[in-house]
Amino acid sequence: MTKILKGKPVAKHIYNEIKKQLEKIEIKPKLVILIIGTDPAAEFYVSNLEKKGSKTGIEVTTKKFNDSIKQSELLSELESLNSDQNVHGIMIQKPLPKHIDENIINSAIDPTKDMDAFHPVNLGKMILDQDGFIPSTPAAVLQILKYYEIQTTGKEVVIIGRSEIVGKPLANLMLRKNSTGNATVTVCHSKTKNLQEITKNADILIAAIGKAEFVKKNMIKKDSIIIDVGVNQVKDPVKGYKYVGDVDYEDCFEKTLMITPVPGGVGTVTTAMLLENVLKSYKNKIK
Ligand code: NAP
Repeated sequence: MTKILKGKPVAKHIYNEIKKQLEKIEIKPKLVILIIGTDPAAEFYVSNLEKKGSKTGIEVTTKKFNDSIKQSELLSELESLNSDQNVHGIMIQKPLPKHIDENIINSAIDPTKDMDAFHPVNLGKMILDQDGFIPSTPAAVLQILKYYEIQTTGKEVVIIGRSEIVGKPLANLMLRKNSTGNATVTVCHSKTKNLQEITKNADILIAAIGKAEFVKKNMIKKDSIIIDVGVNQVKDPVKGYKYVGDVDYEDCFEKTLMITPVPGGVGTVTTAMLLENVLKSYKNKIK
């Protein structure tokens, strides 16, 4: 049985699938990413998306703006991308500068091009189990469960974190009546009392907290499955810095049945799921 739930084979499977579907298509699907301000982490993520896009047959274009951009200017940029027939997907790198209202921006993207799936229409469709776009990180978690044939039906799933981008959508998705759903889902957050008592009951524990190596072995059940969404930069005496998850991997490893690594776990699959959303948007347009 696979113990380390690596993201690479899961992502490879998705990229191959996208490539296969786009092989005979002349006009490439196009994703436009808007970056406001400078953030090395965002730029790294986007350059990776560009590379994966060119390998799979999706054109990824980046538009950079100064962080002094007015909300009205960003809205007119979105209006023009919404009406551009050659653009199939729009993504905005978050967080946005403080003077820009994220809710207004999320609602201004055409829901059929909304690759982050933060538009209220897509969020509503997700809760109603209707066909729409799903945010790529929760989608990556589901894809890992599916790829490694992890059963979720009737399982106690505990999610630590209730963010709009990970915890909340994931909880809803795992309640769906399908093969990656049907779970009994508990969502914990910073105000949860007796966190350890709750996490110790989890058959599947999903950590999306944003705190380096927060989950220790005394917080998990023996032979449970651990999905670590966290990506935290910490100091490293040799390399200067390194990335670790929200789970203390070394500490928990022996006690788990299966565990995702960081890096090389959920994050690796997230990029693939975003490009899958672009393919989906493209196919919806040519239907
Ligand atoms: P976030 O918006 O900061 O949310 C963190 C959540 O954790 C909040 O709900 C918070 O509770 C909860 N929390 C914080 N401290 C806690 C504690 N001591 N006990 C219990 N709950 C606690 O973070 P996010 O955007 O969801 O990201 C979470 C992690 O995932 C980060 O490490 C981020 O880098 C990573 N991430 C990875 C990917 C990927 O593709 N791999 C994508 C997105 C994010 P409150 O709501 O009460 O504040």
